[in-house]
Amino acid sequence: MKKSRLFKIILAFFLAILLPVLSVTIFEVIQQDKKEALLESIYQRQLDTILFAVNQNCYDNFNSWVIKLSSYFLKQPKALSQPEMVRKTLRNFVQSYSSIQGAFLRTNIGQYVTFMDASLPVARNNELSAASLNEIEEIIIKDRQAILTMTDHAVQGYVNPHIIKWQKVENAHKTLLLFPLVNIENANKILTLAGIFIDDRTFIEEIVGRKFNSMQESSFIFAVRDTSSGEMIYATEHVESDIFERSEALWIIPSLQLEIKLAGTTLDEFTHVQTRTNIIFLTIINIILLSSIFYIIRYVYLEMLLAQKEKDFVANVSHELRTPLALIRMFAELMEMGRVRSEEKKQHYYKTIMAESTRLTQLINNILDFSKIESKRKTYSLKPTNIRMLIMDILDFYQYHVSQKGFKINNNLELNLPRVLLDAEAVKQAVVNLIDNAIKYSNGNKNINITLQQKDSAVILSVQDFGLGIPVSEQQKVFNKFYRVENSLVHTTKGSGLGLTLVKNIMVQHRGQVTVKSKVGEGSTFSLIFPIDLKNGAQNGRNIDH
Ligand code: ADP
Repeated sequence: MKKSRLFKIILAFFLAILLPVLSVTIFEVIQQDKKEALLESIYQRQLDTILFAVNQNCYDNFNSWVIKLSSYFLKQPKALSQPEMVRKTLRNFVQSYSSIQGAFLRTNIGQYVTFMDASLPVARNNELSAASLNEIEEIIIKDRQAILTMTDHAVQGYVNPHIIKWQKVENAHKTLLLFPLVNIENANKILTLAGIFIDDRTFIEEIVGRKFNSMQESSFIFAVRDTSSGEMIYATEHVESDIFERSEALWIIPSLQLEIKLAGTTLDEFTHVQTRTNIIFLTIINIILLSSIFYIIRYVYLEMLLAQKEKDFVANVSHELRTPLALIRMFAELMEMGRVRSEEKKQHYYKTIMAESTRLTQLINNILDFSKIESKRKTYSLKPTNIRMLIMDILDFYQYHVSQKGFKINNNLELNLPRVLLDAEAVKQAVVNLIDNAIKYSNGNKNINITLQQKDSAVILSVQDFGLGIPVSEQQKVFNKFYRVENSLVHTTKGSGLGLTLVKNIMVQHRGQVTVKSKVGEGSTFSLIFPIDLKNGAQNGRNIDH
């Protein structure tokens, strides 16, 4: 077989499939760290976006409060100059939102109208204490610049509160949001300065918590931490470790920070698993690819081998046909010309013609049977047979051919064997093939032993030679079609590589088997094992041989 063709096929597979996939795998492995870092940064950004959305939501809430307040005074502009009306509005406003604990308006001339929830520690009769008012005034003076900028922004339509942490009593976490109240339909018109007191914890529970829960696909855990004490004041579920992947200050209450992490894993672990899964997946693909390529190459190789063997077969068979035909023709011509005078020579020629035509028939039978077996048309008709008689007939018929080649067959055929269910023609063909091989591969040793014996529930016919022998590694292969052992004789001894294939098939059809025992340089013994049904053996009968 052309080795270069196989090499080209392997090279094509390597270049077209293996090389790209292997390169991708190697690239993936080399890039693993970089990919992990990239993946991690992508996930981090995603987590940041989620926190941003929560913050934005808090701001939207604040804006809705601002709109609510300003729209009231916009509808009733005169109410602003009536403190009782303002106070009533503020009360309604404060009581509508559980996280708002108080609100006030400050007119341009520094007058305050307030409504405080009783729960606010600084409240007296729902009014903000004078001390607190003073404090607010001080803040307004101190943060004048910031409040002016805020007012400018409000005029442009962006209301950003000026945020003050209001912790006058221990453990009372409040935040004061100062903002200008503007006419939303005419931003230039600033109505007044307003303030809202919010209770941090209620704000977190009500507004932040609600947002967390609406966003929380089970893959995230959210928390809120007090940055000054480091204490975690809220979490969407119980967490063992309080190390969170990402955090961001809460815009509305900057002393608190929003935190987020993946549920059940860390970002680091998560990205590591992702990239590792990728590599494992690629490795599996590589293995599958390699094994299928190995399988395909093996298949192609075997097919090429078979094609080569078929070619050899044609050459061998042509040679095998030509040699006996040439002999037959030569002897027939000699006889026809009447040149052969001596009776003895004539007999010799006749016998040669007979023997060669027998060999031809044998070869042709092998080929025809093989093709019948291949197309599943071969049928066998099994009959209870005296196998010893059958073997004797074969030997008688074959004797001349064998002795002419200088071979001696020693037979040891047991008497009175049970009848064996067999197809006589097929078994004859099998035995002739074995004797033929014993002659062909005799390597100069011209003894052949044939034994027939019963062993338990089998009758065994063995053909033993003392010739070339078969290496152990080849002993099963010789039964494959067209298979011929590579040795010096294979080129000089012609054969089709079909003989033993037929023998094996014949034995399978007899529910028996063919075995080989062989040693290189010492010879081979092929045995045909016919099973006998001991119960039905009685029915088939036993031979009475003499
Ligand atoms: P072939 O026509 O080549 O003889 P067979 O199928 O009969 O085909 O045998 C297959 C191969 O097995 C042979 O080519 C030979 O190499 C090996 N072989 C068969 N019988 C013997 C034997 N008795 N001794 C040594 N080698 C044998």
